[in-house]
Amino acid sequence: MSKTTSLAPETLAAQALHYVDLQTGAVIPPIQPSTTFVRDENYELLAPAHSYGRDENPGYLIVEKLLAELEGARAALLFSSGMAAATSVVQSLKPGDHIVAPKVMYWGLRNWLISFCDNWGLGLDLFDASGPDALAQAVRKGETKLVWIETPCNPTWDVIDIAAAAGIAHESGARLAVDSTVPTPVLTQPIKHGADIVMHSATKYLNGHADVVAGALATAKEDDFWERVCKVRAEAGAILGSFEAWLLQRGMRTLFLRVRQASQSALTIAKHFEGHTKLEAVIYPGLPSHPGHAIARRQMQGGFGGMLSFRVKGGAKGALAVIKKCQVFTRATSLGGVESLIEHRYSIEGATSPIPKDLLRLSIGIESVEDLIADLEQALA
Ligand SMILES: *Cc1c(COP(=O)(O)O)cnc(C)c1O
Repeated sequence: MSKTTSLAPETLAAQALHYVDLQTGAVIPPIQPSTTFVRDENYELLAPAHSYGRDENPGYLIVEKLLAELEGARAALLFSSGMAAATSVVQSLKPGDHIVAPKVMYWGLRNWLISFCDNWGLGLDLFDASGPDALAQAVRKGETKLVWIETPCNPTWDVIDIAAAAGIAHESGARLAVDSTVPTPVLTQPIKHGADIVMHSATKYLNGHADVVAGALATAKEDDFWERVCKVRAEAGAILGSFEAWLLQRGMRTLFLRVRQASQSALTIAKHFEGHTKLEAVIYPGLPSHPGHAIARRQMQGGFGGMLSFRVKGGAKGALAVIKKCQVFTRATSLGGVESLIEHRYSIEGATSPIPKDLLRLSIGIESVEDLIADLEQALA
């Protein structure tokens, strides 16, 4: 691998850091399924970084190095899922530590935090990310060790000011971790705004083709805490398969094109449907009417992402009537793929959900935006 740091991120991603296999000349890395690595007569490992396949798969290195470059991070780690990445951060805390996280966030992680923190002796407070002071009020000086945020927050797209959150966290002696699955490093690099740890569900935009479940963390510092995170992966073993790591390096080559197209189409769709007679609201951080628009402009560059929500008149019934008629949008959960998806979050999350019953979440793909608009128009008619 040659020195790459002066190149633009688009170049680094497209070329997977200018990978060339020096043994064969191949321009694509091999998939390395070996679970064990040989020692010579003197019992020295042939390649010192590789001994056993639990977390020393050579196929991870290129993806981790590329993600670290794109995030402006010191290092990155791949995990078997976004949840495995996020939970490894929490498992690196110590009993008695206090965590602060938003009320509306990726619901799988919120539910896990609520039960895990209780069992593990960790304190947890959930704050309302739509208000400006709630985070500062939730943090306990000296006791809070982790502030977890997600921005824009799924699926109401509240925008959290990363730099302000970092200031609040650091003043109290806490780390700031940012779930950056939705903006990706194409649109936001949380470490530049003061975050300590960045988390991705690589299942979503990083891979981008709805065919890999994977997760990743990137860190601003290789400190003691990061070492604990590395140990959680190495010893507890939430590792990615070699084929999945290979698919991820392939998917990441087109990350910039995909995210930019999705962002552009999402903005077009949001503008087109804002004020539609069948809608209560179109929620998208790229609309000037969005309460977080000014912060989003400051911390997102080149677009506002491919995710938006509609609040449909007529409550759950109205929303379900619209989703029923979609023909181009696919009715499915998840996000960040090349195909556009639509879902009714409340039906999935159930009665304890803080998500409005009239809300439809749209993940915009890379199809013709005219086709997407026409589909939504006929569904709303
Ligand atoms: C999907 C998702 C996760 C969880 O990731 P998995 O890869 O499904 O484990 C976490 N955060 C956000 C924002 C997500 O969309």
